[in-house]
Amino acid sequence: MLDVTILPILSDNYAYIFKIGETVGIVDPGEAAPIIDYLELNNLKPDYILITHHHFDHVDGIEQIKSKYNCIVIGPTAEQSKIYGIDKRVCETDTLDINGEDVQIIETAGHTMGHICYYFKNSKVLFSGDTLFAMGCGRLFEGTAKDMFHSFKKLRALPNDTTVYCGHEYTIDNAKFCLSVDGDNAALIERAKEVQTIRDNNKPTIPTTMGLEKKTNVFMRCDTAQEFKKYRDLKDNF
Ligand code: ZN
Ligand code: FE
Repeated sequence: MLDVTILPILSDNYAYIFKIGETVGIVDPGEAAPIIDYLELNNLKPDYILITHHHFDHVDGIEQIKSKYNCIVIGPTAEQSKIYGIDKRVCETDTLDINGEDVQIIETAGHTMGHICYYFKNSKVLFSGDTLFAMGCGRLFEGTAKDMFHSFKKLRALPNDTTVYCGHEYTIDNAKFCLSVDGDNAALIERAKEVQTIRDNNKPTIPTTMGLEKKTNVFMRCDTAQEFKKYRDLKDNF
């Protein structure tokens, strides 16, 4: 089974270390030092680095980690020219086998055009990068609201008990926004209180689940691209 460790890096990013048996991988190393410290402390040697998209806060640790451990860097074909040291390019038709786990690539244009999410099918774990956040969605730097809406539709098709690990701790602000437009949602009100308590104790609000997002994330609850755009525009000015 897949074992995931959350590593807070930079100001509000999360990088992840996963283990499947003896195989070790890193997701979105936005800086090297805290990741190398963790690996050394736990006597781990990474085999893979998985990248969701080309932004610096997800890739800046690659060079140092790769030169130290010589691990295989996997990233989106569409952004290969923007990501240091890619060894294996992947797109939606690809499935990776990581020590017996089927990893499905889900293309999620919107935040960037080539953004991908990694879905570990056997363990039902999604690394959603800057596409899906707890109660939120990534900013539209490259794609349109329609692109992002379609990306969300793909993610919505995953099982409710999918565990979701995203790229940032934006949960409190996201909860406030969702409450501002969906204030009668009892599940949302309850979750907003829960995440506030978690943050008061300085703990990550991650992971979330697809089922919880469907109940509380305004963007996950949209039925049309127009509705999605309306909320994305409101959130930009929130
Ligand atoms: Zn980003
Ligand atoms: Fe980011």
